[in-house]
Amino acid sequence: MIRKILTYPDPELKKKSVPVTVINEKIRELVRDMAETMYDAPGVGLAAPQIGVHQRVVVIDVSPKGDEPELIVAVNPVMVRAEGDSYEEEGCLSVPQYAANVRRHTRVVVNALNLEGEEITYRAEGLLAIAFQHEIDHLDGTLFIDHISPLKREIFRRKYRRTQEELREAD
Ligand SMILES: [Zn+2]
Repeated sequence: MIRKILTYPDPELKKKSVPVTVINEKIRELVRDMAETMYDAPGVGLAAPQIGVHQRVVVIDVSPKGDEPELIVAVNPVMVRAEGDSYEEEGCLSVPQYAANVRRHTRVVVNALNLEGEEITYRAEGLLAIAFQHEIDHLDGTLFIDHISPLKREIFRRKYRRTQEELREAD
């Protein structure tokens, strides 16, 4: 089922998510909904709090458009190593029509559980490394705009408010 994606400044996006204690049918259904919602959007990643569920679950698919989908499901993801600096443009399904460069790590190692409850280690770089950092941030209530400079954020806020008002008027 495609779920509604919450958008900034929804306070639900600022809440910290709790670890999943048991991987049951409810979690599997959550993951199915998250994947469906992400592909429909379309986006390259989605964290559970973006659909109002405060559990530490993320889905990611950074495979090139037109390729076979390569869905990554990470339950309770933890970044255990990070190195290198990157400064790439990011966007977010919860912050529509805005993109900004964000400082991240180039390479990360992430431990997570899959839907079978097995521990998986991901050694990611490039776009996948950025996606992991972006989605894990969501689980802690952090958005990519929290990483930009205060001045840029102020400009963003003003522009964003105007765009949202225009969208409402167009409805
Ligand atoms: Zn996001």
